[in-house]
Amino acid sequence: MTMPWVDESPREECGVVGISGMDVAAEHAFLAMYALQHRGQEAAGMVTFDEEGLHVLKGPGAVGDVFETWSIRKKLRGRTAVGHLRYSTAGGSDLENIQPITARYANGTIALAHNGNLTNHFDLRKRLVDDGAIFRTTSDSETLIHLIAKSRHDTVDAQVDDALTHLEGAFSIVLAIDETIYAARDPRGFRPLVLGRKDGGAIVTSETCALDILGAEYVRDLQPGEVIRIRDGVVKQLRSLPPAEHPSPCIFELVYFSRPDSRLWGISVDAARRAFGRQLAKEHPVEADAVIAVPDSANSAALGYAEESGIPFELGMLRHHYVGRTFIKPSQEDRDFGARMKYSPVRGVLEGRRVVVVDDSLVRGTTSRSLVRMLRGAGADEVHFRIGSPPVKWPCFYGIDMPTKGELIGSKLEVPEIAGELGVESLGYLSLQGMVDAVATGGPYCTACFSGDYPTPLVDVDKGFVSEEGPARK
Ligand code: AMP
Repeated sequence: MTMPWVDESPREECGVVGISGMDVAAEHAFLAMYALQHRGQEAAGMVTFDEEGLHVLKGPGAVGDVFETWSIRKKLRGRTAVGHLRYSTAGGSDLENIQPITARYANGTIALAHNGNLTNHFDLRKRLVDDGAIFRTTSDSETLIHLIAKSRHDTVDAQVDDALTHLEGAFSIVLAIDETIYAARDPRGFRPLVLGRKDGGAIVTSETCALDILGAEYVRDLQPGEVIRIRDGVVKQLRSLPPAEHPSPCIFELVYFSRPDSRLWGISVDAARRAFGRQLAKEHPVEADAVIAVPDSANSAALGYAEESGIPFELGMLRHHYVGRTFIKPSQEDRDFGARMKYSPVRGVLEGRRVVVVDDSLVRGTTSRSLVRMLRGAGADEVHFRIGSPPVKWPCFYGIDMPTKGELIGSKLEVPEIAGELGVESLGYLSLQGMVDAVATGGPYCTACFSGDYPTPLVDVDKGFVSEEGPARK
């Protein structure tokens, strides 16, 4: 389908933060964003408001690259701040797409930060464009700004509420209209959003680890479908969005995406991953000398595997934390170069030993293939790969950056074939039931990437705007 009015479909992972009623709000937002860096490394942006209006600072790169103390103090003035981090792998990180997206409309100046993907974005956008709307970005989030501006309700609260009811899919949103912040979670609650307090001010943000860095008190999670308004630190609950049949928070947040020191939906992410690892050991035991993790995202699952199996957890691989964004690539084709830049094996732990390697997930299989070669090169006798989640077989339409279906190794090959591709002695994935049961208190979950059960209609797919293969890479 030709869509001259847009040139990419959204496929972003993000982190969001809103601060209200705190002096130099930008400093607090900066720290929160620093703690949320794992949710997006491509670009960062912040908008603050004071009596003079809005102040904006955005740029490509990590939080520490974009913001410096002087810029926060000098430029980002005010007691209200909205911040956004964005991870987008290919091409689509043009400056104009960096959030918060800003616009002026009849009732004030908007700054919008959005985590999650809308599943009816193209449908809404086409209708707005047919009606004469002009979009500045290719991001699905801008649609909400148009819907607010077009709403016929007469209060800002009602306009925001009305606009949100048109959205389908995944959204955890922090939005400022002048010095008032609105925060909302979609009725399914796909992405997290929590409320915290410090010194009379209020904080809404993606994960509790962002509250911890501020020394803020965790108040509660926003409920699925909840919309709140915050003015000078005072929180008011607005009407809830029409409820879904049941919530479906994303289980992949627990598997991989969130930080292990965060609590999501009342569950510690570290505890969830350990439970996955313990269950994995029950389902796929093996005789071995050491359990090692693919650091850092699989550390907790590997500890769980070691606890359950009684095989000692050892540091068999290290992860380099200081990989710069620019480095010199060897001229000859070197297929393991990427993995070597990121991980290095600990020879003393591996040499002559049978190792169980635990990773949190297998997506394309490229990292694991390189890792297996690396472990064998360092002398491992046997490599048994264990994955703390089921095979990823389906694309995500709700905001986790997954490759298209055809690129997912779990969708193309059966487990024994994957074991052959990786070149391992054995391969075992956690079962879907085992995963869901291990974190039953937080469910029911969206497990679409593993099961193909998408909990909402996929409007843009059904209308032919987005391929069933998944949101396209630019
Ligand atoms: P792959 O080489 O594609 O199989 O990548 C698997 C590795 O990527 C695992 O170690 C995961 O920790 C990590 N991973 C899983 N999902 C994502 C994602 N959405 N973005 C970036 N890395 C991911």
